[in-house]
Amino acid sequence: MRVAPVDIAGLAKLILSPECKSIAVLTGAGVSVASGIPDFRSPGGMYDTLCPDLITATPAQRNAMKHEPMAVVTWEMFEQNSFPYMEVRRPFILGTKNHQWKATIAHRFFELLHVKTNKLTRIFTQNIDGLDHQCKKIPTEKIVNVHGSISSASCEGCGTKMDFVKFCEAVETNIKDIYNPESGPKESTPILCGNCKKPLVKPTTVLFGRSLPSQFFERVQEDLPNLDLLIVAGTSLVVSPANSLCYSVPQSTVRVIVNQEPVGEELGIDYSPESTHDFFAQGKCDDVFLELIIALGWLDDLNVKDLPPSSAKLVQENTAN
Ligand SMILES: [Zn+2]
Repeated sequence: MRVAPVDIAGLAKLILSPECKSIAVLTGAGVSVASGIPDFRSPGGMYDTLCPDLITATPAQRNAMKHEPMAVVTWEMFEQNSFPYMEVRRPFILGTKNHQWKATIAHRFFELLHVKTNKLTRIFTQNIDGLDHQCKKIPTEKIVNVHGSISSASCEGCGTKMDFVKFCEAVETNIKDIYNPESGPKESTPILCGNCKKPLVKPTTVLFGRSLPSQFFERVQEDLPNLDLLIVAGTSLVVSPANSLCYSVPQSTVRVIVNQEPVGEELGIDYSPESTHDFFAQGKCDDVFLELIIALGWLDDLNVKDLPPSSAKLVQENTAN
């Protein structure tokens, strides 16, 4: 018997039904695209536009980045040379400090889900942008930053925290701007840890090759056994162990995939007409979640002035007719 909805109206009904008591969300870069933050993996994203020749690195390190741009976000590279990571992330760090990006319709939907139904058990976000935390009505403990966050800083070597504003000032004066050489210093100089004096201070994001926060594993164990609905939004589901949520939920859990194309088939997401527990809500995250907000009758609760321009425009287009 099919228990998954077949359309957005059905999903709205499921969310409001008394049988659905616990809802978790797994998000990726797609939920933040409307804020203007580049999706690292998309054309025009960080990996696509990376110019290793501009980065402060040895020829061997540049070759490694040419071969695999993701080398920039590995512990192996950072431990040898922190500049590639710091130079590539510089605009993202300073944009975060300047509150350049706003939470999208998708983020606000999760906030409304908590406020209106009290069924939001957890948001597992793979994003490091911290936009979930702009939604102040979501209690902080409900948000798990699976891959850490760019909006705080600490030493990767000894763990000593650094004040984020002080860290950003150091980034402005010490790290060269590879995207706009006119601004910032001509050469990068290390930002040293106040405790161990090593040049390993960085935002508290999880580098490849480092372990995830223990909170992730604890919350997964705690939340998943009783989950009625898992919403997977804007993620390609290629990064483990975050993607393991998909197949770790009980058989009875309904899984909803919000994405532009099917993802996670190899993880067991069933896109066939015979699927009983999976629903594919195809589209951009903001489009799908706005439709869902309208179906739930929550549109009046969406505060347009809190949204990024493209999201606000989308709401206005949908309310004008
Ligand atoms: Zn240190």
